[in-house]
Amino acid sequence: MVPVTTSIFELLKIGPGPSSSHTIGPMRAGFDFMRLIRELPDENRLAADDLEIRLFGSLSATGEGHGTPRAILSGLLGSQPDTCRADTLEQFMDKDKPFDLDLGGRTLAYAPGRIIMDAIQHDYAHPNTMIFRLKAGDRVLLERIYYSVGGGFLRWEGWEEPDRGEPVHPYSTMAELKKHLRDKSLRLHELILANEMAITGATEEEINLGLDHIVAVMEQAVENGIRTSGVLPGPIGLQRKAAAMYDRARQEYFQGPGFIKALNAYALAASEENAAGHCVVTAPTCGAAGVIPAIIFMLKRHTGALQAEVREGLLAACAIGFLCKHNASISGAEVGCQGEVGVASTMAAAMIAYARGYRFQVTENAAEIALEHHLGLTCDPVGGFVQIPCIERNAMGAVKAFNAYLIASTLDESYQKVDLDKAIRAMAQTGRDMSNKYKETSEAGLALSFTEC
Ligand code: SF4
Repeated sequence: MVPVTTSIFELLKIGPGPSSSHTIGPMRAGFDFMRLIRELPDENRLAADDLEIRLFGSLSATGEGHGTPRAILSGLLGSQPDTCRADTLEQFMDKDKPFDLDLGGRTLAYAPGRIIMDAIQHDYAHPNTMIFRLKAGDRVLLERIYYSVGGGFLRWEGWEEPDRGEPVHPYSTMAELKKHLRDKSLRLHELILANEMAITGATEEEINLGLDHIVAVMEQAVENGIRTSGVLPGPIGLQRKAAAMYDRARQEYFQGPGFIKALNAYALAASEENAAGHCVVTAPTCGAAGVIPAIIFMLKRHTGALQAEVREGLLAACAIGFLCKHNASISGAEVGCQGEVGVASTMAAAMIAYARGYRFQVTENAAEIALEHHLGLTCDPVGGFVQIPCIERNAMGAVKAFNAYLIASTLDESYQKVDLDKAIRAMAQTGRDMSNKYKETSEAGLALSFTEC
């Protein structure tokens, strides 16, 4: 089987919320298409008089609420997810307000409202499809079909895996990963670090700096969220809850239920920042961007975890995220929320166990327990906004991760009958069996019952 070659910084990406497949991927598509336009011969580029953009599948069903048109326009205007300002998308709130696109010697006025919401059911290669066409009258000067495949990853028709190094410890399953650890007497974070260096050519110091930056952005999202109250953008009028929850936790000195309240507050905080369209880290997606920051905040504030322990825990979490992405999916549009908050909780459970110094088997067991109890979780965001159920679901995912860690670290390892590979296979199969209505289309479940209320 093909080994995992995903980089840590492809899985953990900084970018604007509220949805990695609906904002980060589309922003990248906008940026990429403008790059292609600027490479066109002058006679084509200067003849252009129209830009046609069509969204399909879940991008069409929930793109409006997720901010997809704004993200595309922002990409066309030169924004990239990891370097854009936290409030980048806010300048495009008026969907009829046109902006000048500089095609290179030719300017085209374009408003986010011109993006066409096309068929929800379609036959393209991925549910999240976008078609970009630069036109002169009826003549198509340039066309690219993009797929936003989850977690901010972007593919397109004809896309080929870029050349990258071979992993020194190739694995595609947890069983293969464990064999390396056993045979070579390696620790999990050492293996992931060695593979990252081989795949990307980065040094250990560069990777550690990158991880520290990721942790800092995650912590900042929590800090911002627990200090901000008010109502989130969008027609639901959803009240932010993190600040109030954090206050209650503080009044209880973070003891007993106060500790769980704090953990909830941290996850709500980063998720609310995501829902506001502010900067978060895909972990593994924007929709699930509250779970791992909550665990990092908890580890550092409440257990005194050192930065090195957090880094190692994050590398262990990445190993789990890679396996879920490789053998199932981290896209709500493909497998429902089990692939987003479910995978985030799975990664987070592994992270706690590993950062707390537990043996590898406890780490795997914690991950398996967390994933097992997210199987079948559907994706049905109300109104297409990453708010209900997404924000509280992140809090549930963080608490479940902590509980999975408690079960795995308290009981004898040998009690565990299901391994992580089996749980990941079950997630993939459940995702295949799940009706498309429950895959980020807002056509069923809570999205429907909320409308009917
Ligand atoms: S329900 Fe889950 S998968 Fe769907 S948008 Fe919300 S967080 Fe993402």
